[in-house]
Amino acid sequence: MTTGTETREFQAEVKQLLNIVIHSLYTDREIFLRELISNAADALEKLRYQKITTKEIADGDLPLEITLELDEDGHTLAITDTGIGMTRDELAENLGTIAHSGSKAFFQYLAEGDKKDVSLIGQFGVGFYAAFMVADEVTVFSRSYNPEAAGCIWTSDGTGSYTLGEAEGLKRGTKIVLRLKEDAHEFAKADVIKRIIKQYSSFVPFAILVNGEKV
Ligand code: ADP
Ligand code: MG
Repeated sequence: MTTGTETREFQAEVKQLLNIVIHSLYTDREIFLRELISNAADALEKLRYQKITTKEIADGDLPLEITLELDEDGHTLAITDTGIGMTRDELAENLGTIAHSGSKAFFQYLAEGDKKDVSLIGQFGVGFYAAFMVADEVTVFSRSYNPEAAGCIWTSDGTGSYTLGEAEGLKRGTKIVLRLKEDAHEFAKADVIKRIIKQYSSFVPFAILVNGEKV
């Protein structure tokens, strides 16, 4: 097992996908938030299940919720969940490779015709990468529910590679920080984010807080 910081190449298929996501102009890029909230909700659902079946859970008393922190001046959006979290190996596996053929179907779909509805990205099982539609750097802090696992940090600008290292002092779950692109600064505004949440994520069965306020 590696403990230091390392740089790894994305799998070729991920590079290809990121290249499309980063360089294309899409009108409905706000769906990145639906994808990140949906991943957060999945992680919380998995944690809820583990709580029934597993005795040892890191930070067992944390409330199961999704928290968004917006920094309008710093142009960042952070989304945190207290879900199942990821180990170092899981970060590399889940956010660096695509283990299924869904992405091929997505490439084909995007290559055909000129009306590209990128909002379907989640249906192809690659929703996480939608973050790069609005961010020029994505940093993921994660700590697994397994009390033995170390906290980890994953970061990438979406061009070719990502770095992976250990991070001290993390609570269980995942925090994803987006450094917003210059033309995406609006996604650090609370009214914009609240509207998007109401539009796309109103049935999420966990509390969602924006800058400390429940949506
Ligand atoms: P999908 O959700 O369809 O599997 P994604 O690209 O959205 O595809 O996410 C890839 C994988 O990354 C997920 O299946 C999950 O294992 C992991 N993942 C993403 N976000 C989180 C999160 N907030 N907490 C834990 N795991 C996550
Ligand atoms: Mg997803």
